[in-house]
Amino acid sequence: MKLSYDKEDIYSKLDEKKFKKVDEFTANYINFLNKAKTEYLCVEEFTKILDKNKFVDINTKSKLEVGDRVYFVNKEKSIFIAVIGKDNLQNGVNIIGAHIDSPRLDLKPMPMYENKGICLLKTQFYGGIKKYQWMSIPLAMYGVVYNEKGEKIKIAIGDEDIEPCFTIADLLPHLAKDQMKANANEFIDPEKMSILFGNIKDKEAKENKVKENVLKILNKKYGIKEIDFARSEISFVPSFKAKYVGIDSSLIGGYGQDDRVCAYSTVQAMLEVLKEEKEIKRTMVAMLVDKEEIGSIGNTSMSTEAFDLFINKIIAKSGKKDVDKLELYYNSKMLSADVSTGVDPVFEEVSDVQNGNILGCGVALEKYTGSGGKYNASDANAKYVSQVMSIFEKNNVAFQLGTLGKIGKGGGGTIAYILANKGVDVIDCGTPVLAMHSPFEITSKFDVYMTYEAYRTFFKS
Ligand code: MN
Ligand code: MN
Repeated sequence: MKLSYDKEDIYSKLDEKKFKKVDEFTANYINFLNKAKTEYLCVEEFTKILDKNKFVDINTKSKLEVGDRVYFVNKEKSIFIAVIGKDNLQNGVNIIGAHIDSPRLDLKPMPMYENKGICLLKTQFYGGIKKYQWMSIPLAMYGVVYNEKGEKIKIAIGDEDIEPCFTIADLLPHLAKDQMKANANEFIDPEKMSILFGNIKDKEAKENKVKENVLKILNKKYGIKEIDFARSEISFVPSFKAKYVGIDSSLIGGYGQDDRVCAYSTVQAMLEVLKEEKEIKRTMVAMLVDKEEIGSIGNTSMSTEAFDLFINKIIAKSGKKDVDKLELYYNSKMLSADVSTGVDPVFEEVSDVQNGNILGCGVALEKYTGSGGKYNASDANAKYVSQVMSIFEKNNVAFQLGTLGKIGKGGGGTIAYILANKGVDVIDCGTPVLAMHSPFEITSKFDVYMTYEAYRTFFKS
């Protein structure tokens, strides 16, 4: 009997039928990535999927019965989903939580200016990015504007072939002698990350002629004026498409995989469980939230008490007034569904390889995140790690036990601690990613599929 543990790749163990399933699942996932590049769009897409699958807004229900499928859209930017199980709520629920915001460039409240005959838009980066990666790439513009009447106007330009896109022009290498002397953190001044937005002059305007012309185009298309930028949330994201990567199409490249890979897999897992099971045992809950990339603060983040409101509604509408919410949390278990890092073969020096995630070897189960001496880590206890490992082992879910990287090389956190603070048992579990937070993040299609399998089996446990 072999006692030592070795990682194995998923592909070698897949039969043809499963391989086909992997391709089917990931093709749909790639499609989703191309449609949902902001948290607003994720919520829209998920709501569409849920509506098609007989989920309804929890506020339209006065009573909840076993088997009911409900969701709660929280201020357009996060969504909580539940399927009511047979088991007493007081015994806890199975929660999977992922985030749907990704690093990007946001517009400043007053972004527009004109210089040397070019109209530009000032941006502020959102989340942790290597700024140089966002220069001189095609960008698409997405967002919402609420006009003075309070009407919502949706903006989407740059992803359709017939539409123009946008970019930030980086300095040419020929004249970058001074720029290249600065360290990588400083050589792109965030105040210089302005979007090229227009170059044609308005014939009637006396000054700011290009800006006037650009505003006319915007006004014609969307009915907005310059002041309306102040009541908007507009982001610039990579406009190229997600695609398979590698001569064997084994990898997936695309923007926003952190953490839409886990969010998408969570929803698909829930839907699959509903197809497989006649009756749901433990209530399934998904929370797909915003603002993780900037610290999980605010009313659309994982920290929001809007989630408690959702749970309160479930308890009240189920007619279980005696259920103690704290007890419910205490007995609940959760996967914090966030991506982890894969060991990058050309930068392996930052990883402790035997405690790292190898692409193609499965979903990453991460006992703790944080940095240094486990600072700010939600450190899952051994008993719970064992429970989750058993669920995966019983169901042939390929998983690996990774940490983010070598101690002292940096670090990062997830949303795990937030529900753990409420008493829920939580562990991080998500897809390993290369080039995380870049405009083109890389995953293995086998790991993506295993992420879905992990969530599916967890929901059923
Ligand atoms: Mn993440
Ligand atoms: Mn992230």
